[in-house]
Amino acid sequence: MKNKNWWFNFTMNLLYGDGRDKLIIPECIEEDDGIDIFEEKEEPSLYRPLSFKDYIGQEKAKNMLKAFIVGSYKFKKVYPHTIIHGSSGCGKTTLARIIAQELGVSFKELLAQDTEVETFLEAINEVNGGMIFLDEIHRMKRDTVEQLYSIMEDFTWNGKAVPEFTLIGATTEIGEILKTRKPFYERFKIIIELEDYSNDNMYSIIKKYVAKTYKGERLQTKALKIISENSRVTPRKAIRLADYLYYSGKKIKKILADNQIIDKGYTEKDLRVLEYLHKNGKPVGLDTISLYLGVPVVTYNYEIEPYLVKSGLLMRTSRGRTITQDGIIEMKSLQQKKGV
Ligand code: ADP
Repeated sequence: MKNKNWWFNFTMNLLYGDGRDKLIIPECIEEDDGIDIFEEKEEPSLYRPLSFKDYIGQEKAKNMLKAFIVGSYKFKKVYPHTIIHGSSGCGKTTLARIIAQELGVSFKELLAQDTEVETFLEAINEVNGGMIFLDEIHRMKRDTVEQLYSIMEDFTWNGKAVPEFTLIGATTEIGEILKTRKPFYERFKIIIELEDYSNDNMYSIIKKYVAKTYKGERLQTKALKIISENSRVTPRKAIRLADYLYYSGKKIKKILADNQIIDKGYTEKDLRVLEYLHKNGKPVGLDTISLYLGVPVVTYNYEIEPYLVKSGLLMRTSRGRTITQDGIIEMKSLQQKKGV
């Protein structure tokens, strides 16, 4: 007989999280449906928290997602299509996997720019009522996007029914979607914006990562603290630095230097950008800066500039990029630190 308290237990567990093993499986989920929920086989070395409890920070996002999970069990409805936006490496894929895990459904990851409608339809059949994670949806071909409308909205394709599914779209460029793919955006019911992590959040993430990945090794708390302050509030960057720390056995100062990090995550490339803008004294175009740095425009656009803008050191104007007053102060401080 089904446990009559499953609803209470399920909700409490989801909200307060006391371990997956205690989760009572709701009636709408078959206990043994043969679904391969986790693709750990494919990525054995990648650390990913598997529950909301282990997913650090992002309280607003977690609360909203939990409410929809509870609602989707309650009404026995498929989980609504969701967009998760935030910068690269900040936890979009991980969060999507946690939702699938909490829902007890299968999970399939696709890259938007490589996805034609046929691939998408195959994935719908494959997940069998589960979740498709479409990464970088701002890069999806426009005709494919248009073909998705009826599939997403009415679960039909060419007048024929397709199995219900959930689409989780991830993007670093929500503005681009609003500008060029608005009807697509409208078909998502939940929009989640990931927030910047605090240094404390970053420290918790990296400590947990190291404790799980390097079991039995000494937790180098001081070095990890420095890593958390030098990762441009990006968990993936913190993980890379921590891996280098543990693999190489080098001192933290050397770890930062080898990665050209001067201070607070600012690198020698950032300093060169600031110096260049300062020297020019007038707005400079994207292509010119990339050329000067010797990096592709996309690298500049996604890896370098966002952190400088976020920190208020650089301003984007319609005529180009300029350095701010704070930028000049930071530039001088970085020059000094680099000199020592
Ligand atoms: P994205 O999909 O946004 O590029 P990922 O989900 O792949 O980012 O996250 C990169 C790495 O950082 C993963 O190993 C992930 O587990 C870890 N990570 C990201 N966000 C968090 C978080 N909030 N708590 C714990 N680990 C996180």
